Amino acid sequence: MREAIRPIALDYREDVRGMAQDAIDESTDEESMSEYIHESVDGSWWITYTWPSQFVLLISDNQDAYTDAFGATGAVADGAVNWAALAYCAMRQDVEESARAILDTERKCEECGDYVFGAWPRFADKRLRDLCPDCENDECDGEDV
Ligand SMILES: [Zn+2]
Repeated sequence: MREAIRPIALDYREDVRGMAQDAIDESTDEESMSEYIHESVDGSWWITYTWPSQFVLLISDNQDAYTDAFGATGAVADGAVNWAALAYCAMRQDVEESARAILDTERKCEECGDYVFGAWPRFADKRLRDLCPDCENDECDGEDV
């Protein structure tokens, strides 16, 4: 069983990581990142169809995300399991955790510790110090003191 689902689980993790990266690059702060994640998960193939959403619940690290947030209410609707809602919550949390991990390891300003959102080329260039735009400006100002 584990072996059989492995390729699909890898696809899922890749999609989660890609969505997290896009959300950081396309956002300006935590709020817009969260909104971006909502949109991408909501429109995702994993959520739209029944069997992929069942799969998400099988491989997600957050399969209890829906019931943790809402209890059992709504988990069954019209006599059927509400797979889309359960999978949406699980996947959204997976993407949020992935984004948090990227921010913590790759997008933290060395000076003030703030997260840097948006496509910020400086963070991709390892020869330079990882500074947020504010701290980088301060550094330039500091040379005159
Ligand atoms: Zn900074």
